[in-house]
Amino acid sequence: MNPELSIIVPCYNEAEGLEKAITRVHCLCRELGLAHEIIIVDDGSTDLSWAIICKIGERIAEVKGLRFSRNFGHEAASSAGMRKSLGEQVLILDADLQDPPELLPALRAKMAEGYDVVYGVRRSRAGESWLKLISAKLFYRVFNILTDNPIPEDTGDFRLMTRRVVDAFLALPESGRFFRGMISWIGFPQTGLLYDRQPRKTGQTNYNFQKLVKLSVDAIAGFSVRPLRIAFWTSFIFFFSALALLLYILIARLGQPAGSDNSGLIIVILVTGGVQTLLIGIIGEYLGRLFLESKGRPLYIIRDEIKQAGAPSPNRNA
Ligand code: UDP
Ligand code: MG
Repeated sequence: MNPELSIIVPCYNEAEGLEKAITRVHCLCRELGLAHEIIIVDDGSTDLSWAIICKIGERIAEVKGLRFSRNFGHEAASSAGMRKSLGEQVLILDADLQDPPELLPALRAKMAEGYDVVYGVRRSRAGESWLKLISAKLFYRVFNILTDNPIPEDTGDFRLMTRRVVDAFLALPESGRFFRGMISWIGFPQTGLLYDRQPRKTGQTNYNFQKLVKLSVDAIAGFSVRPLRIAFWTSFIFFFSALALLLYILIARLGQPAGSDNSGLIIVILVTGGVQTLLIGIIGEYLGRLFLESKGRPLYIIRDEIKQAGAPSPNRNA
């Protein structure tokens, strides 16, 4: 029989706190009397995470494990867990438990009101750097201006979803995956639940500035062609400004001896050159995405899998 709830835990170098975290989640589900499964996806960790997952799997029958052949990223790990899940409801939970699993009853109560997605909305984000807070704010603003499917501010991937949402998500074929945006695009009734995000107790964040910029560009270019439209209008404005400038220079120079001051010309060349490079860059982002999608590669490759207690088995299917 399928479990009521699948909990998906993407995990990258989380050896330190993993066993305690999974035990906490498992005990909570037992206290709530929930038939559950916990799917831990090891996203190519270089520490002892996989050994620990195998150990937990021997002890707790509800634990299933997947191990990627290398680091494919958080979004791929969530997708792999969702594909493996069997539950009627699916919860995405980070391994560091910054998003408290104890909110489960509150999430389920909201879902019982008729919602298909209940996402956590961070009232506070203790222990996060000001750089991350500012860049997150900026990202939501820009994303929501540029796309037609706004994502709620101050949310992460922490959310409870119904089976039909998970199935709809798995049916989306693209390899450039931005989880939050895709779930918002799918539709169905969705709502938020306010909570306080805890600081990380063990390990360290796996999102550095470079990964955050990549995620933001992926998210925006994957969801909207508005930057291309902006590129078109910018070139349009520049073209007509150039024409007007040309006319102005011709009229101003009429009947005057040729001057020797070229500084105006240099400025114009620099500005147009800069804008053109930027526009080509924007077009390149979309072209690159098209190239990557056209290859049709799988989202991830699985190296090992544990289905039942203590039975690791190699599996080459993605
Ligand atoms: N994670 C992952 N692959 C990655 C980076 C992170 O599976 O390449 C996992 C990580 O182990 C954690 C979750 O994704 O369970 C969120 O990562 P993190 O806590 O570093 O992000 P933050 O909470 O700082 O946004
Ligand atoms: Mg975290």
